[in-house]
Amino acid sequence: MKYISTRGNAPKLSFEEVVLAGLAADGGLYVPETVPTLSMAEIVAMQSLSYPELAYNIISRFTGEEIAPDALKAIINEAYATFRHAAIAPLKQLNTNTYLLELFHGETLAFKDFALQFLGRLLDYILQKRGRRATIIGATSGDTGSAAIAGCRGRKNMDIFIMYPHGRVSDVQRLQMTTVLDENVHNIALAGSFDDCQDIVKTLFADADFREKLSLTAVNSINWARILAQVVYYFYAALRLGAPARAVSFCVPTGNFGDIYAGYIAKRMGLPIEQLIIATNRNDILARTLATGTYGVAAAEPSISPSMDIQISSNFERLVFDWYDRDGTKLSELMANFRDSKKLELSPTALSRLRAEFAAGKASDEETKATIKACYQACGELLDPHTAVGVCVAEKARKDRDTPLVVLATAHPAKFPDAVKSASGIHPQLPAHLIDLFSRKEKFTQLENDANAVKEFIIER
Ligand SMILES: *Cc1c(COP(=O)(O)O)cnc(C)c1O
Repeated sequence: MKYISTRGNAPKLSFEEVVLAGLAADGGLYVPETVPTLSMAEIVAMQSLSYPELAYNIISRFTGEEIAPDALKAIINEAYATFRHAAIAPLKQLNTNTYLLELFHGETLAFKDFALQFLGRLLDYILQKRGRRATIIGATSGDTGSAAIAGCRGRKNMDIFIMYPHGRVSDVQRLQMTTVLDENVHNIALAGSFDDCQDIVKTLFADADFREKLSLTAVNSINWARILAQVVYYFYAALRLGAPARAVSFCVPTGNFGDIYAGYIAKRMGLPIEQLIIATNRNDILARTLATGTYGVAAAEPSISPSMDIQISSNFERLVFDWYDRDGTKLSELMANFRDSKKLELSPTALSRLRAEFAAGKASDEETKATIKACYQACGELLDPHTAVGVCVAEKARKDRDTPLVVLATAHPAKFPDAVKSASGIHPQLPAHLIDLFSRKEKFTQLENDANAVKEFIIER
């Protein structure tokens, strides 16, 4: 299987090359040349597979011949053995036909563990095979950094440097990063904002000399392997609820569009998905695009669901590519225009395709809190604020109540204790493996908001 860039002007790459490259050389994102489709019989045959078996079945359709079956199986088995629930991604019933898919039983209590436990091991394998070492650099506002560190800690062929805004991530989020003491893990508390952290990452990647010398690699949400790992749980949940004989709907708390894009891929592969609902907080660029046809950026505003405080949803480009019939030249025109004007006007055809594939809605902070409270009262279930956005929007946007609807529960409530406590009056408890988190030793370095200082720090290490 080969991968092509959405901007049509970068070489076709193999799976392993795409994992290493992240972004394409022409600034586009890699997508598979063709998405494999499954017959009803093939999907039926998946019904009794365990989570790792299902993951192997789906992921191996995208890796081509490059990765030996036994090696891929080992990577997948180890990645999901780190989860603390035997079902890996258990479904929980909220009411007659609404379910939560709990994606927070991994090491760092957010769904990002599904992709990053897999990607960390996969990268290590690819680097080992090629006799290479890589330096992973990332900026985080919280959840990505800890999941990336958990996936890469102790791996032989990589060092990981994560920058976070000093004093601006929650205590649990910080401790999940800084209490990892492995030698290949380096936390940088930057005297600046999340945007400053991201700017420094961009500056470092733009320095060709530095990039080459250290083999810089990113593990952000545009990496195809992350999307691929997330396709699996859509199948897993739908199969539990009677697919493929019965269609299922999903409602997904959305920021960078990675998670819901994986749902779109599952649907293209043949999984019968009735509705795919985009749930956003007040940063509602996607909901507005669906309503107006204009993808226009406004300043991101803080909310109680901070991992969704995003205005540019990088993975959106992958969809736009499909709606313009995979015309890379057209896409690079549109994206150049977007870079200058901060606006992308969808053609009537593109907009009608968007509307055919997705529904969308948003929830304010007040609605989010009210949902946490109501859900706790109705079924004793504590929702984290991101999941609560999903539950709130699902009720507004679902077409009917006959089709089972699954809301992706993207984080454990104990990851966002303040919002949960203020909404429900209950202080959510950390699970057993993190109960002593607040008494663990921390390791981090404070640095000035200066790309050169960061560069020197990385070279020294
Ligand atoms: C990252 C994150 C999201 C948003 O996911 P995207 O793939 O960026 O759309 C939602 N909820 C939580 C808890 C997250 O950490």
